[in-house]
Amino acid sequence: MATNPITSTVDFERDGNQHGWLELPYSRDDSAWGAVMIPIAVVKNGRGPTALLTGGNHGDEYEGPIALLKLARSLEPGAISGRVIIIPALNYPAVMAGTRVSPIDGVNMNRAFPGLRDGSVTQMIADYLQRTILPLSDALVDIHSGGKTMMFSPFSAYHKLPDAALQERCRAGAAAFGAPITLELVELDAAGMLDTAVEELGKVFVGTELGGGGTATTETVAIAERGIQNMLAHFGLTERTAGATAPDTRPLHMPEPGCFLIAEHGGLYEPLADLGTTVASGQAVGQIHHPDEPSREPVAYHAKTAGLVIGRSHKVLVVPGDFLGLIAHDMP
Ligand code: CA
Repeated sequence: MATNPITSTVDFERDGNQHGWLELPYSRDDSAWGAVMIPIAVVKNGRGPTALLTGGNHGDEYEGPIALLKLARSLEPGAISGRVIIIPALNYPAVMAGTRVSPIDGVNMNRAFPGLRDGSVTQMIADYLQRTILPLSDALVDIHSGGKTMMFSPFSAYHKLPDAALQERCRAGAAAFGAPITLELVELDAAGMLDTAVEELGKVFVGTELGGGGTATTETVAIAERGIQNMLAHFGLTERTAGATAPDTRPLHMPEPGCFLIAEHGGLYEPLADLGTTVASGQAVGQIHHPDEPSREPVAYHAKTAGLVIGRSHKVLVVPGDFLGLIAHDMP
């Protein structure tokens, strides 16, 4: 298998705090021998576990990049035992364009794993992560938010896995993150996700959805920063504060497909239940208006299951197939 073309300007085996780049040759009209430069920081102190912290997997989700840029500047090697690899803007071209997917190739980083050596820019970044960075890592925290089109009640997440012991390690990691909610998340389609790539290597994966709408708030950034510190302690990289108790979090799950609400009409979506609302099965949680047909009654969307509304469409103008809402249940 041909070697991935990315070279790293940081030495993963060297102690200290290094800032550098993953350089991916990218020849194009405005830069014939140019490269895509993906920032990376490595903080290492002796032996110990390796945590990989990523943000900007989607370019319009901001808590991860903000919290990880702050961490990369502030984390002292002496504060840890082991190694922390920080990639604040994993899909760097998407982050700099403020778009979910890469403006270069239109590829969604979180559907590109395990990547492709001879593929497009995003596929080659995924290939480098898969073949070079993931093998160095014991655990991964990938910080997502809802992006420009979705909004979530802040939660950390793990998945149901065939390996029960690994699932429990992922669950414990997600709970230790300390977001207000810990969700046992069922994906619409897990193929190609970084999550799946890490889990298939038998490593701990913790994900998050911390807000959305293409913005960040003091609250959601604080959850990200606190969560990262909690993760460093949980993975044994830093000392736990004496007397610290496990963070308060509400365990939720998605036991049925009806937890997702998907649009079957186009139009203007009016939410009728805000995030954090407990709804009954059959309760109207939103309705779609028809601006092209003012005399037509809006189409009501009803909860297919009782539970807590933790996700909703951030955009109002929707088309069939759009995500409208996510309703989760308290873990029994
Ligand atoms: Ca995302």
